[in-house]
Amino acid sequence: MKIAVLSRNPRLYSTRRLVEAGQLRGHEMVVIDTLRAYMNIASHKPQIHYRGKPLEGFDAVIPRIGASVTFYGCAVLRQFEMMGVFPLNESVAIARSRDKLRSLQLLSRRGIGLPVTGFAHSPDDIADLIDMVNGAPLVIKVLEGTQGIGVVLCETATAAESVIEAFMGLKQDIMVQEYIKEAGGADIRCFVVGDKVIAAMKRQAKPGEFRSNLHRGGSASLIKITPEERMTAIRAAKVMGLSVAGVDILRSNHGPLVMEVNSSPGLEGIETTTGKDVASLVIQHLEKNSGPNLTRTKGKG
Ligand code: ADP
Repeated sequence: MKIAVLSRNPRLYSTRRLVEAGQLRGHEMVVIDTLRAYMNIASHKPQIHYRGKPLEGFDAVIPRIGASVTFYGCAVLRQFEMMGVFPLNESVAIARSRDKLRSLQLLSRRGIGLPVTGFAHSPDDIADLIDMVNGAPLVIKVLEGTQGIGVVLCETATAAESVIEAFMGLKQDIMVQEYIKEAGGADIRCFVVGDKVIAAMKRQAKPGEFRSNLHRGGSASLIKITPEERMTAIRAAKVMGLSVAGVDILRSNHGPLVMEVNSSPGLEGIETTTGKDVASLVIQHLEKNSGPNLTRTKGKG
């Protein structure tokens, strides 16, 4: 197959590994810098141009779209879909997964376990918002945060009120969430491909920290997940419409709770921790499922 990898940088670990794994399995792999592709959207024959030439003959496209380029990245991916090229994840599903409020609403509607969560922009009654999610301790998150930045643990309602006021001053959308203390500063990343969890790792926060992000000094280790956790991860990816997803789960006293479903999950942590060839499994998934004009939505919806 001829496979495009939409990525800003061919040297990134995940991009390199996908290219390597694809080549090893006999495919032609072409990395396309998402932001440099341009397209004619008004033509009857949808096209994408890159470095002065039209992109042609692709069977599949692997989107590796960073949060900061979601909007343009999804437009480029949609154009591939309109050309009949098979996407590993559809543009509609990626856009959906990048909207945290919408994602949690979709997951809750389908009965997936979530931490009790409130959303707000400028709540006119902060005390009531805090009560609504059962009071302190609470985790407050800025909606656009990544890598644990803008995620604050407030032990008391007074602290929570101050933090909410501070974020309100910055005109940020915020999420107010029940603190899952029993998770013990750990979360589980389940890497879903198709209808399987093909690898899982536990991320543990450093002592004195509750955020397990590797960027915040957390460490990763192998973990055996329960059948319930496995089912939850697979269902969460399915509800989001993602074929490949990183589902982050907290272990609570009342079962697995989904924190986030990531549509461009990184390969480095999961491959190094589990020793699995995740990149090759992703390519094999494409081999099995791709075909011309098989996109369910063709960018609609
Ligand atoms: P980001 O998307 O920036 O990584 P997260 O929402 O994933 O932010 O939060 C960062 C980390 O903080 C998580 O990996 C988890 O370890 C911890 N955390 C987040 N929310 C909660 C919560 N409600 N209860 C307990 N720990 C949490």
